[in-house]
Amino acid sequence: MIKKQVFGTHEWADETANCINGCKHDCKYCYSKEMAIRFKRKTPENWKEEEIRYAQLRKNFAKHSGTYMFPSSHDIHPEHLEENIIFLKNLLKSGNKVLIVTKPHIKCIKRICSEFINYKNNILFRFTIGSSNSQTLKFWEPGAPDFNERLESVKYAYNANFQTSISCEPMLDNKIEDLIKIMLPFVTDAIWLGKANFLLRRLKMNGINDFETIKKAIQLIEWQKDDNILILYKKYKHNPKIKWKESIKKIVGIELPLVKGLDV
Ligand code: SF4
Repeated sequence: MIKKQVFGTHEWADETANCINGCKHDCKYCYSKEMAIRFKRKTPENWKEEEIRYAQLRKNFAKHSGTYMFPSSHDIHPEHLEENIIFLKNLLKSGNKVLIVTKPHIKCIKRICSEFINYKNNILFRFTIGSSNSQTLKFWEPGAPDFNERLESVKYAYNANFQTSISCEPMLDNKIEDLIKIMLPFVTDAIWLGKANFLLRRLKMNGINDFETIKKAIQLIEWQKDDNILILYKKYKHNPKIKWKESIKKIVGIELPLVKGLDV
């Protein structure tokens, strides 16, 4: 049987786990929002209203041989922190490995680090930070924390001896070198770089069509043209802490994995 090439969340983890519908961060480019609107679970207007999936909170997870990515279709916001903690506890208590992917609020990271201090070896944080400029983050991710709060969160988890990594997908400006320089000292694992996928289609589906956003999206697409991606790749290809998502692997000629969750 021919194996399929792996992309998206499956590059990082072979399973995903979630306990909320919707997300207060309301990122303009959100894939989960696009899917929720397409399948009529949410509208562009009510995506940011988070609904707890109580059946998920009651779920007991068996030990799984691979890794769970949590969350993959919402985020961990202070408003529903306790529900996220309950869910995470159920995942971890059976010995599962969990990749926690979040645009971090410092309150949430402090709580997770103190609650799960004994599960340190089973947790890898992946903090999503697409720019070191708070204005840029605010523009694309209006409900998410600013750069300083995300940096503080990365440092906090690092200093608490948790494993840390960064997702710079999507890259949100053309100054990714600045972000890499700031983050590298606090990263035990890797910094992942990736393009903004299907940006114009996603904005349209997510109900965003104002002139300014479309203009900035076109600029971002321009910045992420193959020539510029190749320059970025050349600069970091020998750095073992820089990893490349499928959108970049395809351009620079790295073979896509055939197995889910290898995180390479
Ligand atoms: S944080 Fe993630 S799930 Fe939430 S809106 Fe942004 S991209 Fe979507």
